[in-house]
Amino acid sequence: MVSHLSLPLVESDPEVADIIRREEERQEYTLELIASENHVSVAVRTANSSVFTNKYAEGYPGKRYYGGCVHMDAIEDLARNRLKKLFAAEHVNVQAHSGAQANTAVYMAVLKPGDTVLSLDLAHGGHLTHGLKVNFSGAMYNIVPYGVDRETERINMLAVRQLAQEHKPKLIICGASAYPRTFDFAAFAEIAKEVGARLMADVAHIAGLIVAGLHPSSVPHADFTTSTTHKTLRGPRGGLIMCRTADAALVDKWIFPGTQGGPLMHTICAKAVAFGEALRPEFKHYQQQIINNAQALAEALRSRGYRLVSGGTDNHLMLVDLRAVHPDLTGKQAEAWLESAGIICNKNMIPFDERKPTLTSGLRLGSPALTTRGFKEPEMTKVADLLHRALSAGEDEAGRAKVGAEVREFCRHFPLPHA
Ligand SMILES: *Cc1c(COP(=O)(O)O)cnc(C)c1O
Repeated sequence: MVSHLSLPLVESDPEVADIIRREEERQEYTLELIASENHVSVAVRTANSSVFTNKYAEGYPGKRYYGGCVHMDAIEDLARNRLKKLFAAEHVNVQAHSGAQANTAVYMAVLKPGDTVLSLDLAHGGHLTHGLKVNFSGAMYNIVPYGVDRETERINMLAVRQLAQEHKPKLIICGASAYPRTFDFAAFAEIAKEVGARLMADVAHIAGLIVAGLHPSSVPHADFTTSTTHKTLRGPRGGLIMCRTADAALVDKWIFPGTQGGPLMHTICAKAVAFGEALRPEFKHYQQQIINNAQALAEALRSRGYRLVSGGTDNHLMLVDLRAVHPDLTGKQAEAWLESAGIICNKNMIPFDERKPTLTSGLRLGSPALTTRGFKEPEMTKVADLLHRALSAGEDEAGRAKVGAEVREFCRHFPLPHA
C-alpha cells in the first residue's frame, strides 16, 4: 500500500513515521466494525494537518483575544454556516474539542451541582458523560437513569414520563452510544415541557443519519443538540453544539471561557471540509448505504443463529447477544478472537446483562467505516460469515489465522481513501 506520510516526517523522525505506517497498514487490512469509528477523506485529513494548528484564536469570530485571526474568523464562520445549513439550526458552536466537551458545556450552562438529570442507563446504551459515577457527570449531578423494556429492549416513553414526573429533573438527556433503534425526540420534548426540564439530545452516533433525513432530527425539538463530528458524520475528531438563538450566548460562554481555552483551529478547518462533504448529495447515498449495510449484516447474523438486541436495527449499529450461539463466550473473549482474525469491534453490555461490564455477553457492531470503503450488502454478508467462522474457530488459533488471511485479501479489494 502507498503510505500517506510526507517525506519530511519520514526523514526527520523515522521512529514516529514507522509507527504511523504500521497504523495505516492496520487500518487498511482489517475490517473496522467499531460503530463510532470511520475513515475520513483525504481532504478532511489534509485540512486537519494544516497550518491552522499554529494559531491561537481564543474567543469567537470578530471577538478574538489575539491578533492575526482574519483567516481563523473566515474558517470558523464557514464551518458554522455550513453546520447551520446541514441541520437547519438557529445557532451552532463548532469549538467543542470533543463530544464530552460539548456535553460538559451544556451541563454547566443549565445545571448546578446536585441537580437532577434523567438519562439513559449506561448499561442500556447510554454514554459515560450521561452519568457514569466515575465521570464528572455522575460525580456532580444526581443521575436518575431510564432503561429499555425487558420485553422489547426499546425505550418505553411511558416509563420515561413516569420517572420525569416523579423526579422532576432539571435536564433530560436522550441519545446513546449503543442503541439500535430510533429516538422519539418529539415525545422527549413533550415530557421535558410537562415537567419544566430542559432537553439535550446527544446525537454523537446518528448525526450523519439525521443530516441525510434517515433519522428524525432532534434540532426542532431539543433545547440543545450535541454531537461528535467523527462518527457517522465522518469528520475530524471533535464536537459541536446546536441550540436556539435564545440560548446562543449561554452555550458560547460555557465553551469559552467556561470550559475550554483556545479552539483547535485545524480541527475546525477540517470540520468545515467535512460539513461541506455532508452537504453534497453523495453524502445522503452514503448514509442510506450505511443503513442498508447494517440491515444486511443483521440479517446475515440472525440467519447464523445470533440474537440481536431488540431484534434488529433501525440505524448504523447493532448489539449482538452472543449467548444464543456461544453460551460460554464473553464479549471480551470474542473481541480478542475477532481481532486476531483482523475483525475489529468492541465488547458491549446487552440490556440486563448478567456479566460484568469488563466481560459482557455482547458485541457492538457498526457499518459506517466499512461502508466508507465501499462495502455493499453482499460484502456485509461475507463479513457475517467471516465473523461467525472466527468465533466458531475459538481456541483453534490456526482456524482463526485462516480467517485472518481471508480478511486481509478481502480488504485489499476495497482500499481506503488515499491521496
Ligand atoms: C462518542 C460519544 C460521545 C463522546 O465523544 P468524545 O468525542 O469521545 O468525547 C458523547 N456522547 C455519545 C452518545 C457518544 O456516543
